Amino acid sequence: MGPDEGHRPELRVRDVGPARHRRRGDPVAVPEAAARGGRVSMMRPEQLPAPEDVLPRILAIGEEYEFASFLIGVRMEGAGSHEECSRAGRPLKEALGAMLERRLWPGRTVDFRRPELQIHIDAATGAVAAVPAPLFIGGRYVKLARTISSTHWHHFGCGGRGCPVCSFRGHFAEGSVGELIGRPLQAAADGGKYYFHGAGREDIDVRMLGTGRPFIVEIAAPRRRSLPYERLAAEINAAARNLAAVAGPLRPATAAMVTAIKEAAGEKTYLATVTAARPLPADAAARVGALTGAVVAQETPHRVRHRRAELVRTRAIAESFATVLDARSFIWQVRAGAGTYIKELASGDGGRTRPSLTEALGVPVVIADLDVAAVHYRAPWEY
Ligand SMILES: [Zn+2]
Repeated sequence: MGPDEGHRPELRVRDVGPARHRRRGDPVAVPEAAARGGRVSMMRPEQLPAPEDVLPRILAIGEEYEFASFLIGVRMEGAGSHEECSRAGRPLKEALGAMLERRLWPGRTVDFRRPELQIHIDAATGAVAAVPAPLFIGGRYVKLARTISSTHWHHFGCGGRGCPVCSFRGHFAEGSVGELIGRPLQAAADGGKYYFHGAGREDIDVRMLGTGRPFIVEIAAPRRRSLPYERLAAEINAAARNLAAVAGPLRPATAAMVTAIKEAAGEKTYLATVTAARPLPADAAARVGALTGAVVAQETPHRVRHRRAELVRTRAIAESFATVLDARSFIWQVRAGAGTYIKELASGDGGRTRPSLTEALGVPVVIADLDVAAVHYRAPWEY
């Protein structure tokens, strides 16, 4: 039996400074006994903090975060299994939940499945921590420049470990589409880290045009959730002028939608300027058109072999159409399955992609510049 047995730690609140000086997830307040290192173990239900003692700290959290649903959890050191812990903390959770839901937080409800805010109470110390659910915002982006990447650009030089070249971040984020869109949303939500999830991505020198590519920005630990989407999109587009833009409306999204768009396997339509090493044959347009309906076999391209496993993938070419510009160049419109390497489909990649434009034309060709004209995929929030 410890000296603390049967004695509820004094729950005088230690001043931990104003909210803006605390880091997210820090306890809002710590009772003096715990702050002095008081040891409490094997809590019994009657040793739980009294609801009225933890309530002020919970109400302070309620002022700090925007949320419509919440869930209270009680952590009990030494309470045994998760189930025992859950049972032992139940009287406190139920008392608090009833007080908050019925009287103190009208309009906010207890949600056991997807609460926007979880409130963790440490039974031993009486400390209260806020754990906000991430905020997900979906939309489509266009990438208008051939000088910025769509997402964070992994630094292969240091293997992502961080080094002086990449400012010890392991990646280059400056000027990526993800940053141009993600940062303003992160700031508006007053959130922690943000993540930019795209339904695929382009190479840095490829533009993404048309109706754009679906993306979701995930913001960790947001303090605000109802954001002025329309105004934010306008601000993002003004700031990212000539580089990128939000195409169409921003919409609320979910974690499940992140999985969905990452697994999206829609076809894409590309527009490319193709140039030939020698004059094109007279029937060039017909030869390019004959690739419509072809199934191509692509070995892992030479240029990405250092980061992709070696394998042969087959992809269907739904449409291939040429508009000849002059003796050595044409505009190529091609619609192909997700994951088709278009640059290699043109060049043939030294025989690693077959058939190819080079093979069909009998003249070596390369893509001079490439745009994605359409991503044929409807995101979950677009139905
Ligand atoms: Zn580096």
